Amino acid sequence: MNLAKLPRRNYVTAPTRIDYAANLTKLLGGPEIYIKRDDELPGAGGGNKTRKLDFVIADALLKGADALVTCGAVQSNHCRLTLAWARREKLQCHFVLEERVPGSYHEEASGNNFLYQLLGVDSIKVVEGGSDVDAAMYEVAERLKAAGKKPYIIPGGASNAVGASGYVVFAEELLRQSFELQLSFDHIVVPSGSAGTHAGTLTGIIGANAGIPVHGITVSRPRDVQEEKVYQLAQETAELLGVKGGIPREAVRCYDDYYQPGYSRVNDGMLEAVTLFAREEGILLDPVYTGKQAAGFIDLIRKGVFKKGEKVLFAHTGGAPALYMYLEPFREWFKKI
Ligand SMILES: *Cc1c(COP(=O)(O)O)cnc(C)c1O
Repeated sequence: MNLAKLPRRNYVTAPTRIDYAANLTKLLGGPEIYIKRDDELPGAGGGNKTRKLDFVIADALLKGADALVTCGAVQSNHCRLTLAWARREKLQCHFVLEERVPGSYHEEASGNNFLYQLLGVDSIKVVEGGSDVDAAMYEVAERLKAAGKKPYIIPGGASNAVGASGYVVFAEELLRQSFELQLSFDHIVVPSGSAGTHAGTLTGIIGANAGIPVHGITVSRPRDVQEEKVYQLAQETAELLGVKGGIPREAVRCYDDYYQPGYSRVNDGMLEAVTLFAREEGILLDPVYTGKQAAGFIDLIRKGVFKKGEKVLFAHTGGAPALYMYLEPFREWFKKI
């Protein structure tokens, strides 16, 4: 792979840190736990979308765009980061927000929603959960074209092959750090949502022939559906970057026991994991992605999937601004524990 061939904006100017989580390692009594801090990537509020947008916005600019159109859930980190980078690039930015939980969009809400206002979003169209979000983005783009703009549509989570290449970079960066630190990882654990993070990381690991299993914890879909989604995107990414032989289907591994009762909805595993990472390591996870990823991670340690003596890398993809939308369930949880 030669990632230098892909146009990029260079939003990621330095490798993200790898922290050894000594307290969590001791408490859980399993593998050595390392956390790669993609929550501290540049971009307002940090998080994984910056790596993907680095390539995707470069593509938009090359195509002469002056307005970005993208989509997400009502508390979307992806929308927040797309908007933040759009401000830097002097591009308009328009959202289609899918109300996956009925009645959950409030213009005056906290968390990412407030940040949309602060960063000065150009327009928001809210659609019902399950609607054709791509069609809605297309409509917004047509309206902009009629007004003389040059819109560019970024898919949900910036998860196409160009965006996923940002996580191929993550895998290469991680392997370089692993070499420098003389730390050989036995497993990598990622959250698996719109799938760019999972697919890109897997493509990078396979492209480098590194042989480290990549485990994806799903946040919105059952295992078979998510594995197929990751597989398709990893294949496309491998093709874009010329990874010979493509991606073996069995390399795609998802775990779906941790996201119920549904995307962005609270469960005890998430509350436990977010509280544990905060109190043991002083690290803020989020309720929608990394909280559920950590719930799965902890359970897989307890089940012996990740064993004592092994070294596991937990990819912290960010999302903490959404915490402020979840004060009540956390306050209830603190009373219980
Ligand atoms: C979007 C997001 C994810 C999921 O990444 P995908 O590439 O969409 O699978 C994980 N964590 C956070 C904080 C996110 O915003």
